[in-house]
Amino acid sequence: MSSATPALRVARPGGIEAAVALLRDEEDARPLAGGQSLLPTMRLGLAAPALLIDLSAIDEMRSIRADGDGLWIGAMCTHSRVAADPMVRARLPALARLALGIADRQVRNRGTIGGSLANADPAACHPAGALGFGAVVVTDRREIAADAFFTGLFSTALAGDELIVAIRYPRLEGAAYEKIEQPASRFALLGLALGLTRDGPRVAITGGGFGVFRATPFESAIAGALGREAGARPHRLPPDILDIGHFIDDLHASASYRRHLAGVLLRRALARAMAP
Ligand SMILES: Cc1cc2nc3c(=O)[nH]c(=O)nc-3n(C[C@H](O)[C@H](O)[C@H](O)COP(=O)(O)OP(=O)(O)OC[C@H]3O[C@@H](n4cnc5c(N)ncnc54)[C@H](O)[C@@H]3O)c2cc1C
Repeated sequence: MSSATPALRVARPGGIEAAVALLRDEEDARPLAGGQSLLPTMRLGLAAPALLIDLSAIDEMRSIRADGDGLWIGAMCTHSRVAADPMVRARLPALARLALGIADRQVRNRGTIGGSLANADPAACHPAGALGFGAVVVTDRREIAADAFFTGLFSTALAGDELIVAIRYPRLEGAAYEKIEQPASRFALLGLALGLTRDGPRVAITGGGFGVFRATPFESAIAGALGREAGARPHRLPPDILDIGHFIDDLHASASYRRHLAGVLLRRALARAMAP
């Protein structure tokens, strides 16, 4: 009797329906986007799918287009593509800047926005952008607001056989993403996304907890400051806004240092989002 590991199979479907059918019908199948998280995980023996479903031949997942006055970004768009796209740069420059700040050129040329959201790494940049800018994740079967999409450490609301097809971003009155990089991994030691929406400010933090989260005390403080006077200066924000209890302590930074960075990044983000 042989004890050899079964060979890893790879399929390259040409459409979303075929990819979902494979995910549904095949045991231990996983979508493969840029491979920047999945392949290292497999190399470390932390995942051992029997079938990889390479999404690279699905053209529908590669488009970037206008979505009303917002943006539609296909899940298979790489970080480099998002950073360089003229429509992204015109409509949501903060997202282009976020994508340009991810890791290094090699990772940006392979890693995708859909892969980053599906992976939901607690220190990744795109989850903060999606949550802070009020994005909606479009899957093969439904639309999921970013508020309901991220459910914890490396976990999302996606079903096992569900594919992210695109991400929709609304038009914002101002937006910014600011990050302090963890120098060894280049992930966010702390990252903060601010979106000034018609319904008020949204602030999302990555790298500060066991998953991306909204910093509601920041949002209320900004809304209060903006309500009191047009063009409120960031330094007038009350000091108690830093009283949010989510920050983690680890070998890279203490919780109190992360809390301090959050205040610094909030002020930077406000200055950038409100710049004329
Ligand atoms: C050295 C290094 C530094 C990095 N630094 C940063 C950083 O600073 N900020 C940051 O945001 N990211 C960072 N990343 C992560 C990188 O941005 C990748 O985007 C991310 O790893 C996943 O994208 P991917 O396309 O490579 O997905 P893959 O690795 O192919 O897939 C990741 C997971 O998502 C699933 N998946 C992929 N696409 C879909 C889809 N369309 N629908 C459903 N499930 C899907 C896969 O099955 C897998 O479980 C870094 C990565 C590396 C290696």
